[in-house]
Amino acid sequence: MPDRTAGLQAAVRHAETYLAGLGQRPVAARATAADVVERLGGPVPAHGTDPAEVVDALAAGADPGLVASAGPRHFGFVVGGALPAALAADWLVSAWDQCAAFHALSPAGAAIEEIASAWVVDLLGLPRTASVGFVTGGQGANTTCLAAARHAVLAAAGWDVERDGLIGAPPLRVLCGEQAHATIHTALRLLGLGADTAIRIPADAQGRMDPDALGRTLADGSGPAIVCAQAGNVATGAFDAFEPLADACAAHGAWLHVDGAFGLWAAAAPATRHLTRGVERADSWAVDAHKWLNVPYDCAAAIVAHPDAHRAAMSLTGPYLVADQGQRDNTTYVPESSRRARAVPVYAAIRSLGRTGVADMVERNCAQARRMAAHLGTIPGATVLNDVVLNQVLVALPGGDDANRAAVAAIQRDGTCWLGGTTWQDAYVLRVSVSNWATTDEDIDRSAAAIAAAAGTASGATS
Ligand SMILES: *Cc1c(COP(=O)(O)O)cnc(C)c1O
Repeated sequence: MPDRTAGLQAAVRHAETYLAGLGQRPVAARATAADVVERLGGPVPAHGTDPAEVVDALAAGADPGLVASAGPRHFGFVVGGALPAALAADWLVSAWDQCAAFHALSPAGAAIEEIASAWVVDLLGLPRTASVGFVTGGQGANTTCLAAARHAVLAAAGWDVERDGLIGAPPLRVLCGEQAHATIHTALRLLGLGADTAIRIPADAQGRMDPDALGRTLADGSGPAIVCAQAGNVATGAFDAFEPLADACAAHGAWLHVDGAFGLWAAAAPATRHLTRGVERADSWAVDAHKWLNVPYDCAAAIVAHPDAHRAAMSLTGPYLVADQGQRDNTTYVPESSRRARAVPVYAAIRSLGRTGVADMVERNCAQARRMAAHLGTIPGATVLNDVVLNQVLVALPGGDDANRAAVAAIQRDGTCWLGGTTWQDAYVLRVSVSNWATTDEDIDRSAAAIAAAAGTASGATS
């Protein structure tokens, strides 16, 4: 029997080396998945290996295939790093190895999720009575919230969807902005509502849903309806206008869900709070913790203004399950039964930053996005395409789609920073997302220089 802590020292050593080098190594991976398979794969080992040796082999084998996405110059997708306290707390979660489904299995797991729930709701300015489930990501949060929505709007029409399913149910309309995130459509698919049945409401040049068009479309029909709005467009960072959307939903008895995967954190900072005006009037909100709150993967919150609907959609019952009366069973708010104590790193992140620290991180990243946009705007022929209201920058380099594709590839190859491309209004353009606690202004300046250099090379190569 190996010592219980065998391997931990090796893990600490490797983690320290990795984290110390995170700001220096090329941001892109140096190896493909096939290379890593070559290094770590093979048949099932016939005999065991000492824990420390296993950890050593893993660290060495995986290293070239790692992306420095936790580092300060990864601007692709919207990732976020891991705050020191959150990372350390995440390790404790594994050491404790709690099954944080039921109070009976972990009073500490229940208590810490209760506290983290209240803190997240407070920081985001949402109703204190809202219920929170900590799930794996924005996908899980959107799905959980929309399950609660499906319950509530069908219950109001006299239908019990949990018991009777959707066969024979009153017709239900789902309306979303043209720019709804792909995970909304996946959530609808998982909930039996169909990925493509949502009515798409036109959006403006920044990706904001047209509230008048929403009102007209809601008025055109009747019966149960769910509206999916967005706080933080994944390309532009734009916010839907929640006041008029909430008015339209209230007038027609529709459930308003807000996908705020990264953007909802704008509500936690004085400089950006105005972008979310009226968002507290929604019925549910999905927000990631692993993006802008900078906790390690994976963690997000599904927040519902109507705890009964949340519980009806998610709760688990069975004769062998011991519910402790009056105690929080985390499983009541999430699709999973057994699960890790996922909110512990959220608790640690918020405790380490405090209210002002969360606000500073959001405001700093937004200022850095503006700084990046100012740099990129000086590249000859380049156009910044979005209003940089948050942490996202969309830029078109000169030379058209092929030149922009070549530039993205050149930037990734160069390794100073990492960003990806996206299709925006039929053009392939570069997308920059700033959401890491450790990013400095110097990182922005260095990265902008690398992007400018790649732009020169790429447009030279294709012109
Ligand atoms: C990232 C994102 C999601 C999905 O979140 P995951 O954490 O990747 O599951 C949903 N909506 C928006 C707007 C996002 O940016």
